[in-house]
Amino acid sequence: MKYDVAIIGSGPAAISAALTLKLHNKSIIWFGSKKLSPKVEKSEKIANYPGVPMVTGPELNRLYREQIEAMGLEITERQVTNIAATKRGFMVLGGSDIYDAKTVLLATGAVSGKGFPNEAELLGHGVSYCATCDGFLYKGKTIAVYCGSKDFEHEVTYLAELADKVYLFTPYDCDLSRENITVNPGKLKAICGEKKANGIELLDGTMLDVDGVFILRPAVAPANLIKGIDLNGADIVVDRNMATNKPGCFAAGDCTGRPYQLTKAVGEGNVAAHSIVAYLAE
Ligand SMILES: Cc1cc2nc3c(=O)[nH]c(=O)nc-3n(C[C@H](O)[C@H](O)[C@H](O)COP(=O)(O)OP(=O)(O)OC[C@H]3O[C@@H](n4cnc5c(N)ncnc54)[C@H](O)[C@@H]3O)c2cc1C
Repeated sequence: MKYDVAIIGSGPAAISAALTLKLHNKSIIWFGSKKLSPKVEKSEKIANYPGVPMVTGPELNRLYREQIEAMGLEITERQVTNIAATKRGFMVLGGSDIYDAKTVLLATGAVSGKGFPNEAELLGHGVSYCATCDGFLYKGKTIAVYCGSKDFEHEVTYLAELADKVYLFTPYDCDLSRENITVNPGKLKAICGEKKANGIELLDGTMLDVDGVFILRPAVAPANLIKGIDLNGADIVVDRNMATNKPGCFAAGDCTGRPYQLTKAVGEGNVAAHSIVAYLAE
């Protein structure tokens, strides 16, 4: 099935756009988490969101979930790791499946950090963001895995069931224990390799030979998500209609730049939804 729109992200910007697109009767495939935005969840008290004074983040997420359900919207719990523009729209890689959509809305939030040296260059050449898509390529091999959040530990376990040896790096205390997993042998500094990843360098200068590297993070930098997208630093460049330089691809929320605020995110999500409706009508 070809969807009218693929929405990537499940924060306020995506929610706002999804509600409006639903009112316009558009077919939507929506990728993200049913828990919605971790940033909203972490907010203790929000004083500048009209209509719900001094709401806590968890309460706002609860209200969002109620509204999403009442509108009959469904979130597909898959991470999008690649979007390719085609002649008639976009092919979106969600988990290990490919989805077809006429338009795309990027509402992925701000991505902190630039990634590891060589990560972008070697992506698809021994560096992967998707355990279920590429794990089988490393059966019986040695791999390095960067796991940015406990939510991805099930993917690490899956990879460890296939690989012979796993060097696991986490920014948090990790208690994953398995015979073939070495947890945090140092701090991951860089990915090595010319045309294909073949090693990693640790902060203390140690080099480790690996056959592949998996990077598991809640968000993928826009430049690695969709090739050729215009950026200003890490921010996606948009016009007043929230259109990017790629026809049919729109962006909204923190991913388009500061200020990082809820009302900016929902406003941009709404504008993007209207622009998508107009684009589809053309
Ligand atoms: C502690 C804290 C307090 C804050 N307090 C306030 C406040 O009081 N007032 C205010 O206005 N703002 C506040 N903010 C800022 C506000 O939370 C953000 O501006 C807002 O959440 C941005 O919404 P967004 O939809 O752009 O992105 P996000 O809320 O970051 O949501 C993006 C979502 O998309 C998902 N996603 C990303 N990439 C992918 C992918 N490739 N595939 C699938 N899903 C993906 C992410 O996991 C995430 O769930 C606060 C932020 C923090 C951290």
